[in-house]
Amino acid sequence: MIRVDPGDYIGIIGGGQLGRMMAYSAYQLGYRIAVLDPDPDAPLAQIAHRKITASYDDPAAVQELAKLASVLTYEFENVSVPELELISQERAIFPNVRLLSISQNRIHEKNMCRRLGLKTANFLWAETVDQRLSLLDFRHYPAIVKTVRGGYDGKGQWRVENREELEEALKMWPNMPLIVEEFVPYDVEISVVLTRDQQKEIVDFGVMENYHRHGILDVSISPARVSEYVGERAISYARQIASDLDLVGTMTVEFFVVGNEVLVNELAPRPHNSGHLTIEAFDYSQFDQHIRAIAGMPLGRPCRGNPAATANLLGDLWQQGNLNWQKALDTPHTTLHLYGKGEARLGRKMGHLTALADTPEAAARRVRQAREALTSKKGVNSFY
Ligand code: AMP
Repeated sequence: MIRVDPGDYIGIIGGGQLGRMMAYSAYQLGYRIAVLDPDPDAPLAQIAHRKITASYDDPAAVQELAKLASVLTYEFENVSVPELELISQERAIFPNVRLLSISQNRIHEKNMCRRLGLKTANFLWAETVDQRLSLLDFRHYPAIVKTVRGGYDGKGQWRVENREELEEALKMWPNMPLIVEEFVPYDVEISVVLTRDQQKEIVDFGVMENYHRHGILDVSISPARVSEYVGERAISYARQIASDLDLVGTMTVEFFVVGNEVLVNELAPRPHNSGHLTIEAFDYSQFDQHIRAIAGMPLGRPCRGNPAATANLLGDLWQQGNLNWQKALDTPHTTLHLYGKGEARLGRKMGHLTALADTPEAAARRVRQAREALTSKKGVNSFY
């Protein structure tokens, strides 16, 4: 059992918004944060006690972080596994490196689901260039071709309607391991965010309902408007995965729902965008629980408050001129989070809004209204 005492350092690989929100939770418990990120002005680097400015897989930098910190974690999954495997012999890394490596590889993810008897979309994969021709035997169209590694927010994906288009897509990525997956005509996408501690106890935040735009999460709603049967299945699948992979920390599993069927899409070994609303909707957030778990503290038993919805603020919004922060903040029961990022590029997650309301529908309406208020030019009009 790893126990981190208040005042000790927690080391975080990756300095993005997830790391920054982990730090807010860690600071409440008196921990110090050291971050490894190549950008000295990354969201977490701006507020960490110590920053190591180097690439994520620079062995000397990872060593330095491990020396400083009592425990290590990461806030995004594209970290070099061999490097961390080496370090994990002398410093605990949560979630464990095996879980990380499975989450980096869509083939391993899907095979893990098969092994546990959990359903996924039909798929075929090719790990080597020689195996690629076998992908043309795929029979379930429309389909999506995905790179096996490195895909996030819908990047590295190509929808194909038939065998000819699949052939074209294979030419686009001539040297990469690929997976071809049936396009699921889902009713809704959902996710389960949960935390498992070092004593194997699991606490979940129920089911979130997720809406994407151009492959990027746009709006999440909690609780998800799915049947009890579907909700319980999703939670039980996520718990099975967490136990099987010996998770310590917060993890997220994303699902497609088709009728009563729940198909696993992918997992993220970290707090997740769809869990941001746990900051306001529960008395302990996904970040609080993550820090407790990796620090060897008992998990909180979060009580759920009101239904909630989160809307992401992408860099695209900034292209529309000055944003009306006053008006957005004038929306009742709505919280604004900005991550401190300098350049508002298209598709870049700059911040989010979370609204609480009496029903999930009302929360979703309210958060969209608050986001629209950002681009309104009419000054502050109280919503009260
Ligand atoms: P992923 O990176 O695999 O999570 O994909 C990003 C988003 O693309 C998902 O959240 C879905 O909205 C969509 N998507 C990915 N795979 C499929 C699929 N097999 N069927 C339908 N939609 C998909």
